[in-house]
Amino acid sequence: MADSCLKVALPAPLMRLFDYRRPAGWPALRPGQRLRVPFGGRELIGIVIETDAAPAVPASKLREPSRLIDTEPLLPADLLALLNWASAYYQHPPGEVCATALPAALRRGDPLPEAPSRWWPAAGGDAKRPAGIERRAPAQAAALAALDAADGGLADPEDERLRRALRALEKKGLAVRRPGPWWPNGQRSPAPGPVLSDDQQRAADAIAAADGFSPFLLEGVTGSGKTEVYLAAAARCLAAGRQCLVLVPEIGLTPQLLARFESRLGLPVATLHSGLADGERLRAWLAAARGDARVIIGTRSAVFTPLARPGLIIVDEEHDASYKQQDGFRYSARDLAVRRAQQLGLPVVLGSATPALESLENARSGRYRSLTLPERAGSAQPPRVRLIDLRRHPPQDGLSAPLLDRITRHLRDEGQVLVYLNRRGFAPVLVCTGCGGVVECRRCDARLVLHRGRAQLACHHCGARRPAPAACADCGAELLPVGLGTERIEQALQAHFPDAGLVRIDRDTTRRRGAIEAHLAAVRRGEVRILLGTQMLAKGHDFPNVTLVAIVDADQGLFGTDFRAGERLAQAFVQVAGRAGRAERSGEVCIQTLHPEHALLQRLLDGGYRAFAEQALAERREAGWPPFAFLALLRAEAVRRERAFAFLDEAAACARDLGLEGVELLGPAPAPMPRRQGRERGQLLLRAARRGPLQAFLAAWRPALEALPAARFARWSLDVDPVELF
Ligand code: ADP
Ligand code: ZN
Repeated sequence: MADSCLKVALPAPLMRLFDYRRPAGWPALRPGQRLRVPFGGRELIGIVIETDAAPAVPASKLREPSRLIDTEPLLPADLLALLNWASAYYQHPPGEVCATALPAALRRGDPLPEAPSRWWPAAGGDAKRPAGIERRAPAQAAALAALDAADGGLADPEDERLRRALRALEKKGLAVRRPGPWWPNGQRSPAPGPVLSDDQQRAADAIAAADGFSPFLLEGVTGSGKTEVYLAAAARCLAAGRQCLVLVPEIGLTPQLLARFESRLGLPVATLHSGLADGERLRAWLAAARGDARVIIGTRSAVFTPLARPGLIIVDEEHDASYKQQDGFRYSARDLAVRRAQQLGLPVVLGSATPALESLENARSGRYRSLTLPERAGSAQPPRVRLIDLRRHPPQDGLSAPLLDRITRHLRDEGQVLVYLNRRGFAPVLVCTGCGGVVECRRCDARLVLHRGRAQLACHHCGARRPAPAACADCGAELLPVGLGTERIEQALQAHFPDAGLVRIDRDTTRRRGAIEAHLAAVRRGEVRILLGTQMLAKGHDFPNVTLVAIVDADQGLFGTDFRAGERLAQAFVQVAGRAGRAERSGEVCIQTLHPEHALLQRLLDGGYRAFAEQALAERREAGWPPFAFLALLRAEAVRRERAFAFLDEAAACARDLGLEGVELLGPAPAPMPRRQGRERGQLLLRAARRGPLQAFLAAWRPALEALPAARFARWSLDVDPVELF
């Protein structure tokens, strides 16, 4: 194959692979190996995608890679297949897609590290152990004991005495040192779990009986014991000698889940998330790739973890918006998990108390198998829900008299209280009492939020911060904070319940590493009786002593313009309400609203999430929105508005030239937030009744966009299956 070439994925923002000539004398290459290649005046790290491709130009004109980094493919074939598919589906450059799947060190081109050496008891060494070693060589005896106790080998100890003892044991043939594994895999005996309910057992059996690709939607009300079903399925997967990949929305929020998996499966779980240091991440990644780590729990990008012996994929809280990457490579980890399971022929379990409407529709149409846990586990009962009409009970600093009364009662009865408000800061608006003006961000079409009591103004969109002014810049009159944020509610609660012990959990109080864990531990120890917080509190926590959940402001989001606003609101309410009464003590939920008659609230109250979802699906079908249509969003922004819109106009014209077979073009239109970070923003929405025509259109359109004259003067991005339309 004299004229064959290598097709290489490079981290460049272009929707293509790059051709290189295989240097004479190099060994045969395989897809998934890394190379260092010249690119323009620089060198880049690339990944071989094809080895014997026909070059577009004569091979003699091609450049050669400068160095081969991996002797073996770094990315296994199945993962490359997923990445290729994702690049085509999301219309994102293949090199950037591949980069997403690599830990930083490997992305930079570092060679694959050797597994660290670990100490092991020598095979058959027991018989050679000299009697009385405890007396004559106590350090060696201690080292032997440490070896016996260690799961999966002992890392080189810090203690010099112990290190010397281990080397002495090595000389005597009692200990050996060898590389690996990347992850300790020693089995402990699993802690026993509860006896599964009939529903749980049925679900676990169905997953265990799955043969080949089988997507399941596990819909279980909050506290129904979905995690027990995951654990049962994971245990069977491990027993079959396979690995289990578990995706969660945010690891920091679920330290309990990790501990539960470890104790119940009796092995150390590897975690993959953005909070890890580079070295830790690399180690967990390699541990998964080598098959040393048998259970991997990770956030969004962990869907790309290489697995030596994949057996099962679980996506917990599958409705969570954090599974969708909102910038760069805009993929949905939930959808890719299903795709990956299909490519590998595996079962995949999507679990939620409040499934995404897309997933419900997939279950209803038979594409997913539906498993349901309609009741709470053990003796826990569903909470009682009541609406507090704020028109009749005007609140002070966000808290109405009936709500204060309920909080007092629950605290008196030794319960814990969870207060939910999904807005951080002190107040969302600062209004002038003279001219009525509001203080806005200079770079965004957004109001500045008051923080740190009343000391600071912050923009939640661009991060700008400045001291809060003493008076209106236009007329000099006094400024008044309007509306509620968690800081303001914190003040009010502290004034009413000074002795209760209160913790506020939002992004401002949890920036420090480990802060969340510390807060949650204080809650579990009972030192904290009132937990106040945002969305962060709604996610998957088990607070057994929370008996009252208070939703301070139901109206925020009740009249949202995004077609998904209702779904988001219903999910947040049901999830946060589900934190009440998860153990023996029954729970209560109080919802403050100015609109107690609102259809969404009424439907949730009467029929729960299911009733809401039925109605919402009917409305989506009527209006032609997902899951009954497929969307793609082209966004553009530029400092000058004309430039963003010139690009969108050219893009729209180009789309019409291509012939919009089965695809509808909506726009160009200003983005819902027309200015952000000093840039003017516009968008073009594409809608199709079927996925196929949209995909075919995008495949032709995306490369054409790169070549549009106006593309040079605007920043643009394409979002397939967008979750947020801003
Ligand atoms: P989910 O993940 O659905 O919110 P969990 O699996 O966390 O629910 O279970 C909620 C609580 O119920 C946990 O404290 C769990 O230990 C308990 N639980 C789950 N299944 C059972 C069961 N079959 N019997 C008794 N308690 C159970
Ligand atoms: Zn801003």
